[in-house]
Amino acid sequence: MQVTVIGAGVAGLACALELAERGATVEVLERGERLGSGCSWFAGGMLAPWCECENSGPLIAALGAEGLSWWRARFAGTAIAGTLLVAPGRDVAELAQFARRTTRCEWLSAADVDGLEPELAGRFGRGLYFPEEGHLDPRAALAALAARLETLGVRIRFGVRAVSGTRGDGAVLDCTGLAAAAELADLRGVRGEMLLLHTRELSLTRPVRLLHPRLPVYVVPRGDGLFMVGATMIESDAGAPVSARSLLELLSAAYALHPAFGEAQVVEIGVGVRAAFPDNLPQLRCIDGTLHVNGLYRHGFLLAPALARRAARVLLEGAYFPEVMHEDSRQRRLA
Ligand SMILES: Cc1cc2nc3c(=O)[nH]c(=O)nc-3n(C[C@H](O)[C@H](O)[C@H](O)COP(=O)(O)OP(=O)(O)OC[C@H]3O[C@@H](n4cnc5c(N)ncnc54)[C@H](O)[C@@H]3O)c2cc1C
Repeated sequence: MQVTVIGAGVAGLACALELAERGATVEVLERGERLGSGCSWFAGGMLAPWCECENSGPLIAALGAEGLSWWRARFAGTAIAGTLLVAPGRDVAELAQFARRTTRCEWLSAADVDGLEPELAGRFGRGLYFPEEGHLDPRAALAALAARLETLGVRIRFGVRAVSGTRGDGAVLDCTGLAAAAELADLRGVRGEMLLLHTRELSLTRPVRLLHPRLPVYVVPRGDGLFMVGATMIESDAGAPVSARSLLELLSAAYALHPAFGEAQVVEIGVGVRAAFPDNLPQLRCIDGTLHVNGLYRHGFLLAPALARRAARVLLEGAYFPEVMHEDSRQRRLA
């Protein structure tokens, strides 16, 4: 089967790979001039199915657990070092609330926190640890997927603004994120602002989330003194520059995690707009002969593998996955 994948974000590349590995002839069209011209470029790269249960529920955990093993098998830079959660003394109750809403975590004493991340020693009295979770550098991961696609003979054509719809005998898979809002009327944008900071004064092994009632933030180590600090969640599809308030809050939270961030260099300030459906769950949706993979919201790297597997089987085998498809999409594909 011939498949045109529109969009070279994490969803498009994962789908292209799943299809090509199953023997389809695939071409990827990307309107930007480089990989990750959309939201994927700004992601933290946390692969945190159980932490994400806190506000998402069991479907995200189940799909996300598939994603963890997929990334380990396909991207050597996938680290499984767990996720650490801490809270300032006055907000320790936030940890208990987080633990109640999630699974597969362990309570840590101050000594345990210090043992896991020695450079946070003496800073936090309690912690939560999700030992099975992972993280990756999203930009390196996108490049690795593109390289794998090249070895399978899949071409990515940059600078091509494609239009959804049937193409001769071939199938079309639309993975254009928020740009698909014209066809998917219930898709909305959730703006996320992030920073890249550089400091040699601190080293962390794993993503650390700092719980705070107003602005929970996380810091993801990227190696070589680089740290991603994220992220705001603002109901807006505006890709405008970061606001002064968000910048202040992200920097203050990083500083509260460790004062070394006060002397760090600000390498990048970025904004990505996540695409989400009203229930914040992802969907495979069939419209006018095109299969859309969208609504990956705040879990795109985590969920793209499981969605890509399902999308490939929908296209190649006519399979149906009720957990991510409505019955009318099934009917439309059969029609
Ligand atoms: C600050 C921030 C932090 C995040 N952290 C995490 C995290 O830690 N873990 C996680 O799992 N997720 C995270 N996410 C979410 C994740 O980034 C998204 O869910 C994911 O990137 C969505 O991927 P996508 O491929 O659907 O969309 P996109 O990455 O937006 O890709 C869509 C692509 O389609 C292209 N396109 C659009 N229209 C056309 C057209 N007509 N023709 C051709 N090409 C087109 C665009 O240029 C773009 O490259 C984060 C998001 C943000 C903003």
